[in-house]
Amino acid sequence: MQQYIIGNWKMNGTKTEAQKLASGFLKRIQETNRPLPHIILCPSYPYLASVVEILKGSPIEVGAQDCHPEKSGAFTGDVSASQLVDVGCKYVIVGHSERRRHHHESSTMVRKKVEGAIAAGLRPILCIGESSEDREGGKALHVVSSQLDSDLPKDFAPHELLVAYEPLWAIGTGHTPTPDQIEEVLGLMKHELSIKHASGGVIPTLYGGSVDTKNADLFLNLPHVDGLLVGGVSLKLDEFWEVINASTR
Ligand code: PEP
Repeated sequence: MQQYIIGNWKMNGTKTEAQKLASGFLKRIQETNRPLPHIILCPSYPYLASVVEILKGSPIEVGAQDCHPEKSGAFTGDVSASQLVDVGCKYVIVGHSERRRHHHESSTMVRKKVEGAIAAGLRPILCIGESSEDREGGKALHVVSSQLDSDLPKDFAPHELLVAYEPLWAIGTGHTPTPDQIEEVLGLMKHELSIKHASGGVIPTLYGGSVDTKNADLFLNLPHVDGLLVGGVSLKLDEFWEVINASTR
């Protein structure tokens, strides 16, 4: 499977910086003849349309960082999945731990967002992962397994979704799981996804949390890693390009 490298820009930068970054990646893509992974950039809402415009016709796709589960209505400050499709998004991050923590998003809410995104034609990137207490208490696999149960709808096709394993303790901390720990969790995810949700297809499983130019290669060589979700480093043109170039398939 062609790997996925996803950049989550979070609430960073200005319009000019977002445009510069998108144009920078576009130029690199145009100058390379190496086979590339799927590349998805996720800027903040206000910059989506202009990043989509810059990348139009290129292999780089654009995603949002969240969406509301409903199609439309009196939800001041929210953005629906169909509005994201309307401005040219193809993907949306759902259930990121920063949304769960700062906006108290429950699993029920996350599942509705996944459903709403799929119904609108967006491909959700569902984020799941355990806390440090869960990891230390030996509960990581249990937590991930129950999040898969609670956050995913019963019916969806494999090509409609991506799942990213993002342990909370690895996001923005410089700490990462060992390759064995990543393989153990992603192996479980693949197994559970194959029996519970997607007969006859493979749902890509990604890793995210403190990915950088030094560890990307190691992670991307792991058999169950179908890609990476990258935060901080995705805002740095040269470093993120190095991560992209570490893709193995
Ligand atoms: C993230 O926020 O999804 C993430 C993986 O962040 P970072 O790469 O900065 O740890």
